Amino acid sequence: MFPQKQQYDLIIVGAGLSGLSAAVSARQNGLETLVLEKGRSIGGDGNYVEGAMGVDSYLQKETGVKIDKTKLLQEELAYSHYEANAPHMEQFIDASGETIDWLHELGVAFLKVGPQGDSWPTIHTFTGGGHAAVQTLYQKATDLGAEFAMSVSAQQVLMAAGHVTGLSIMNEATGQSSEVKSKHVLLATGGYVDNPELVKKHTTMSDRLMTVSDGKSTGDGMQLAWKVGAQHYQMGAIQYGGGAIYDKIQPPFVHMASQIAAAATQEAILWVNERGERFVNEDVNDNMCHAGNAILTQSKVFSIFDQAAVDHLVNVGLYKEVGNSPISPDKFDGLQSELDQDLKQHAKYLVKADTIEELAAKVNLPKLGETIAQYQKLVAAGSDTDFGKQTKYLTGVSTGSFYAVELGVGMACALGGLRVDGHNEVLNNYGYPVPGLYAAGNDAAGMLVGDTYAVTLPGSTAGYAAFSGRNAVLHVVGEH
Ligand SMILES: Cc1cc2nc3c(=O)[nH]c(=O)nc-3n(C[C@H](O)[C@H](O)[C@H](O)COP(=O)(O)OP(=O)(O)OC[C@H]3O[C@@H](n4cnc5c(N)ncnc54)[C@H](O)[C@@H]3O)c2cc1C
Repeated sequence: MFPQKQQYDLIIVGAGLSGLSAAVSARQNGLETLVLEKGRSIGGDGNYVEGAMGVDSYLQKETGVKIDKTKLLQEELAYSHYEANAPHMEQFIDASGETIDWLHELGVAFLKVGPQGDSWPTIHTFTGGGHAAVQTLYQKATDLGAEFAMSVSAQQVLMAAGHVTGLSIMNEATGQSSEVKSKHVLLATGGYVDNPELVKKHTTMSDRLMTVSDGKSTGDGMQLAWKVGAQHYQMGAIQYGGGAIYDKIQPPFVHMASQIAAAATQEAILWVNERGERFVNEDVNDNMCHAGNAILTQSKVFSIFDQAAVDHLVNVGLYKEVGNSPISPDKFDGLQSELDQDLKQHAKYLVKADTIEELAAKVNLPKLGETIAQYQKLVAAGSDTDFGKQTKYLTGVSTGSFYAVELGVGMACALGGLRVDGHNEVLNNYGYPVPGLYAAGNDAAGMLVGDTYAVTLPGSTAGYAAFSGRNAVLHVVGEH
């Protein structure tokens, strides 16, 4: 449905995590606010979020979690090879705890705060997941009087005398077009992970990437902004979700709670490439983005394990904690039946054989026998002198049957595209604002990363979405 009025103080494009945070804040500050959402439902990828990053939040104070902000900033800048924007990063970190407190006061519930694997203890897990959080924000924004136009997309940023004057918009259901006026437009469209052309242009081996997003993050915000002179900025950091089952038939979400996927990626016993050669310390999966990078250094990757490992995972327990998966049981008691079921259905990504030789022949991995013989020597010696895997995770591959699962790389979201200043104003090629144009969330989050998403600071994209939406609004309020 088209907007009810012709003119607003602020138009927000996208009703995801950043757009909803901005909408609540805008109404708290008395701005006449319109939110355009091209989909039929609200929340965007915010629906799938586990938690949001914060430092010095109420929850961290309650639980005695203390973080040295200066050290954190320095470490994150180093992780990004100083490609992250230091002042913006510092501003975000400084405000992040207060942002969590603000969400909490609005009624967004948090279950716990802590690290993800070997990370800073910054992720505040939403009770009921991101879905509950975005619903709470939507309800609050609506109660406060924000107007939502659903199935309406922004098509073009309108400018006059160098300043934003509004948007041309389209009803996604009927194809009808219209215009709506505002001196302030906030782009909050969720980045470009669902735009295959942009992903291909900026990422290696894009055909092996499996997106797990909502399908609506098609890079609209950056493309609208580029057309009115915004700088192309810092594309290429994708939030990889580590290894993922390489299934070209079913969509990736089918495997999100799969125990085969968790066994093949997070338990990661032996990973080999297209020749059957080992190429990495499989503990790399402790950092899901590093794991994604490592997998993409090879043409193909297979996770190899034996029946003894399956039996152990089913009956005894996990070799290592499953940190990055929606499932984190003590045992994979459904693993054997999942394997049997997929084999029965001739799933292309899964091969089983009685012997290593047979597995090598079936998958066409000529070096597999040699690789496993060498790997078994390392297991027997209790020391991975080849790649440095921790001894406690050196699990053998010796007891048939043998399994190979082909891996691609999961990707949740893509960051960047637009450069913003400390008010989340979109900058042009000369480093000056495009007057009236703002960006938040993933559209602007290239400011926080280098070429690899900082999983070391867990929850940072969700935390940034909430922070940046509010941050832009505060500047609009000041200008108003
Ligand atoms: C499976 C999964 C798990 C994740 N887990 C975490 C996590 O635990 N912690 C974390 O920090 N991050 C996580 N993320 C990333 C997180 O979801 C995003 O960083 C966050 O949602 C970004 O907020 P956003 O507002 O930029 O985009 P979104 O929340 O995706 O919202 C963008 C909205 O804009 C709308 N839109 C797009 N184009 C237009 C247009 N032209 N006109 C109108 N509307 C438009 C879209 O339909 C969408 O509703 C996860 C992502 C996925 C996919």
